[in-house]
Amino acid sequence: MLPLRTFARPLRSTLTRQASIAPRQTVAFPNQLAAAARFASSCCNGSDHSPPTATSKPRIMAGSTPKDVEEYLKQSHDRIFENNRKWATQKKEQDPGYFVSLSAGQSPNYLWIGCSDSRIPAEQITGLEPGETFVHRNIANLVVNTDLNVMSVINYAVRHLGVKHIVVCGHYGCGGVKAAMTPKDLGLLNPWLRNIRDVYRLHEEELDAITDEEKRYNRLVELNVVEQCRNVIKTAAVQQSYKKNHYPIVHGWVFGFNDGLLTDLKIDFESMLAKVQKIYNLSDE
Ligand SMILES: [Zn+2]
Repeated sequence: MLPLRTFARPLRSTLTRQASIAPRQTVAFPNQLAAAARFASSCCNGSDHSPPTATSKPRIMAGSTPKDVEEYLKQSHDRIFENNRKWATQKKEQDPGYFVSLSAGQSPNYLWIGCSDSRIPAEQITGLEPGETFVHRNIANLVVNTDLNVMSVINYAVRHLGVKHIVVCGHYGCGGVKAAMTPKDLGLLNPWLRNIRDVYRLHEEELDAITDEEKRYNRLVELNVVEQCRNVIKTAAVQQSYKKNHYPIVHGWVFGFNDGLLTDLKIDFESMLAKVQKIYNLSDE
């Protein structure tokens, strides 16, 4: 494995640019409210206090006062309810029975396990409607067998909802993957992100052979998705359901910010399942 410093040196500028999970950014706003007072809502400069609309995103700008920040917080909160009212009205106009059907229950075909990154909303990038996808997101789309959250989601989605496809979707430029390779103590994030270092260790030879750092990160993103697919396949719920029903099947995808497109890594589900079951066979109920 390449020395971590070599791997991660140009990382900080990238993390800052991406507004991802860099710890400084995570804690900056609540701890620096006084500093935020230097910023003003673009809606509050001067006399224009008209309420924001769905398309006017409130912002804080240089020169703000605490009052401006307070106004910004109110507006950025209220716009969500305005958006929600518009969405509900639109849905009812398109289909008067829409919410009656929605309240009748869910039967989604897909389980989506993606990154928490705000730029990758599962339904929007796939064109799926409410009711079609069961969604779980966490930092760097990890499937960790001691994480009760993701394990409960998989169990419920497979055994009770009967999903037909499980998608693990990573993304190029993942701040979580990059942070994992930063030679720095990230506190509570250490044990979570260590799962990604484990992926690097498993594929050390291949990754070390990639000299271009961005390409190496991108490959680590892909390999992380593949390893998380393997973790999904290790679960009893998936093995038993597949044995009985021939579904769900597991897919590994990666989203790219450059073009907004999903890439299917085309993991060989059946062969991966067979290899996993050599050691992790839980298919007998
Ligand atoms: Zn990410």
